[in-house]
Amino acid sequence: MESLFEAGLEVTVFFCNPNIHPHNEYLKRKEENRLFADKLGISFVEADYLLESWFKSIEGLEDEPERGRRCTACFTFRLDATARYAAEHNIPVFATTLGISRWKDLAQVDACGREVAARYPGISYWDFNWRKGGGSQRMIDISRREGFYHQEYCGCRFSLQETNRWREEKGRPLVEIDWDE
Ligand code: SF4
Repeated sequence: MESLFEAGLEVTVFFCNPNIHPHNEYLKRKEENRLFADKLGISFVEADYLLESWFKSIEGLEDEPERGRRCTACFTFRLDATARYAAEHNIPVFATTLGISRWKDLAQVDACGREVAARYPGISYWDFNWRKGGGSQRMIDISRREGFYHQEYCGCRFSLQETNRWREEKGRPLVEIDWDE
């Protein structure tokens, strides 16, 4: 967001994350994003939290590992909503922050972006590598400077289970989440 803002581009943040569970965790992450967008004067749009549709989109893939087919379905679901919003609002290009994390497979994210862009005539996917040119470090620096909430797992309940299995193996404290919140 900061790079795009500094480049003078007209930007809209489209927050589409029905993959974040539980809802309270979703609200925490959304609020951080919205506050930073407000600070920079960037418009912020919250997509519908289509939890049931998201679960339907990954049906049968629940036990896939992170970076596997469940993530492909998850990226496709969210990027399709993004491309659709862009098409409906005359926004010619969309990109995603998904690939900036070192936990993500950038080629997998970009393949999903290109695939959904092909569904919407006149819309293209910008496969900019946000990690390059010091981007990853800049993300860490901005996060520290702003005191952003630090997420402990990717988002879905399956990624939380995976993280906790890994933590257990390493003898690290487990991430505790209140699912009733
Ligand atoms: S691990 Fe992350 S990218 Fe993969 S399905 Fe879960 S929320 Fe989506």
